[in-house]
Amino acid sequence: MITGSCNCGAIKYQITGKIQKTVNCHCNLCRKMNGSAFSTYAAVLQSNFELISGKLASFKVSENARKHLCHQCATPIYNSSSNYVGLNILHIGSLDSVDELIPEVNIYGESKLQWLSRISELPTFDQSMK
Ligand SMILES: [Zn+2]
Ligand SMILES: [Zn+2]
Repeated sequence: MITGSCNCGAIKYQITGKIQKTVNCHCNLCRKMNGSAFSTYAAVLQSNFELISGKLASFKVSENARKHLCHQCATPIYNSSSNYVGLNILHIGSLDSVDELIPEVNIYGESKLQWLSRISELPTFDQSMK
């Protein structure tokens, strides 16, 4: 059973069935609306998504898409889009265990930030830089 939650703990959800696809999205919309260099998503069937607790706030982020957040702490939980009817596109960080979820593809590579391909070459600290 795959489970997920938000940062404050109010939202808890579970996924029955399997993840359809795990993708890194490099589009400008995701970069802007998530405030991040790129966004990783795991798509599941809407019918396999069960909200166990908490309340979601929902915002229109483009002509076709909505972003669903924890009502209390604003952790992004999933996106939905009229381009992908029947899918909840989970923000991968909302899943409780992400180690086994390895992205399969990069989409919107045309707007991918150039430095991302060299990220593993940067000096890396186990924790914060002192
Ligand atoms: Zn929360
Ligand atoms: Zn995107």
